[in-house]
Amino acid sequence: ILLPLGAVAGLLLVAAVALATHRRLSLPGEIRLGLKRREFHLHYQPVVDLRTGRCIGAEALLRWRRPEGLPMSPDLFIPAAERSGMIRAITAHVIDNALRDLPALLALQPDFHLGINFSAQDLEADGSITQLLRGLRAMKAPAGSLVVEITERNVTDAKAAAKQIARLHDHGVQVAVDDFGTGHSSLSVLAGLELDILKIDKSFVDAIDAQAAASMVLPHIIDMAKALSLFMIAEGVETETQADYLRERGVQLAQGWLYGKPMPLEDLLDLLRTQGRAWATRGRSMPV
Ligand code: C2E
Ligand code: MG
Ligand code: MG
Ligand code: MG
Repeated sequence: ILLPLGAVAGLLLVAAVALATHRRLSLPGEIRLGLKRREFHLHYQPVVDLRTGRCIGAEALLRWRRPEGLPMSPDLFIPAAERSGMIRAITAHVIDNALRDLPALLALQPDFHLGINFSAQDLEADGSITQLLRGLRAMKAPAGSLVVEITERNVTDAKAAAKQIARLHDHGVQVAVDDFGTGHSSLSVLAGLELDILKIDKSFVDAIDAQAAASMVLPHIIDMAKALSLFMIAEGVETETQADYLRERGVQLAQGWLYGKPMPLEDLLDLLRTQGRAWATRGRSMPV
């Protein structure tokens, strides 16, 4: 039964290695592997004109197809990527894919607007913006066809953000402030930025039906957007009641399950083809 010391050490080592490889990877580790295995792809959620119901654009939303395990919401893996520094690689992938898909969308609808989400780090460093502008220039996309969405949360350094936003603007990229009303930035900070679009957070839209306290704030958000000459996109519109309320108060655009869930590119292209046939005889100019 007595084993030589070397053999015991060897067995222990084998056991340790087996344990380590069986242990689940950390979330950042899984993200890194997922990127390498091309498990991340974009879905697109239609953005519609509230008056006509016409789809005038879409928001690109990242999806993670994990071979084992349940689908994971970007609300979970994006913050993890932000904390671990993986977000730069994620955003590079998002920009790549969005720019790859944009020509097909513009071919069907020349005034299409595609929104992509930026994290704070994408705004702080030059890399993502440079990649975006270089790609746009190469494809000669019309100005305004890309919209970069930033959250109030991401505007930590207002001066630096203002500079980057101006740079996007100079090159014809529109800028939207996402999840408006949920952050902590003061209105004076926002007023100092060259913004084009204000996205009204879903919580305020939900409050319309619930007649909750947040619904009393909504008219003020709308007034502020009007005072700053910002276009409005209401997020998470699920009912006709909500759509009616928003339309009556002059909110121009909306996205939500009432109009369409995030979908693969092919489905969005089908939607645009169908819509193109329906609108062929009318012809009207788009709000954004
Ligand atoms: P977001 O940018 O505010 O995107 C809107 C979210 O609301 C999406 O969730 C969308 O699927 C969801 N949504 C839209 N309409 C409805 C509705 O009618 N009802 C309900 N219940 N939900 C609706 P999703 O796709 O899970 O994304 C969550 C968040 O993750 C996004 O919020 C955004 O902050 C972040 N995210 C997603 N993709 C990216 C990305 O490529 N880069 C970065 N940095 N963040 C991303
Ligand atoms: Mg967004
Ligand atoms: Mg949002
Ligand atoms: Mg959100």
